[in-house]
Amino acid sequence: MAMEEKKVYVKDARNGKGAFARKKILPEKMILEIKGVFLTCNEDDDIDEETRNNTFRYDDDLYISPGKDIANFINHSCEPNAKVVKKNKKLFIYSILPILKDEEVLFDYSTILARDDVWEMECNCGSQKCRKVVKQFKKLPLKLKEKYIKEEIVPDFILKI
Ligand SMILES: [Zn+2]
Repeated sequence: MAMEEKKVYVKDARNGKGAFARKKILPEKMILEIKGVFLTCNEDDDIDEETRNNTFRYDDDLYISPGKDIANFINHSCEPNAKVVKKNKKLFIYSILPILKDEEVLFDYSTILARDDVWEMECNCGSQKCRKVVKQFKKLPLKLKEKYIKEEIVPDFILKI
């Protein structure tokens, strides 16, 4: 099978490195699979800060750490153009909106922070809708939670944890 060209590339972004669209991406398209190693990420686990900051919630107990894989470079925005989708026991990044060539692919980290996730991050995403702090989905403003649920931007399993 031919190697599929990656839909994103990594370059310097507003906050560190980011993942950018190689070509225009239409809405509701799979951008990449989030691959890596599974971790538990308990508070007392010996995990370095950078790794912890870049994990993706997978289920009740597990997180995926992408290491240096491309998913590691996808940044947060309070006004995202992409989302995390769980399908066939795998995690993916999908577009929400049309993403233009050379536009950064961004998802809302709060959409993968469940009620037992204590991790928080100060936000400097630059959006006019910036919430200044990234925290659990359940702590988002009610209107935004409703929008994310209705538009299926938050994965079901996050709502069930
Ligand atoms: Zn923000």
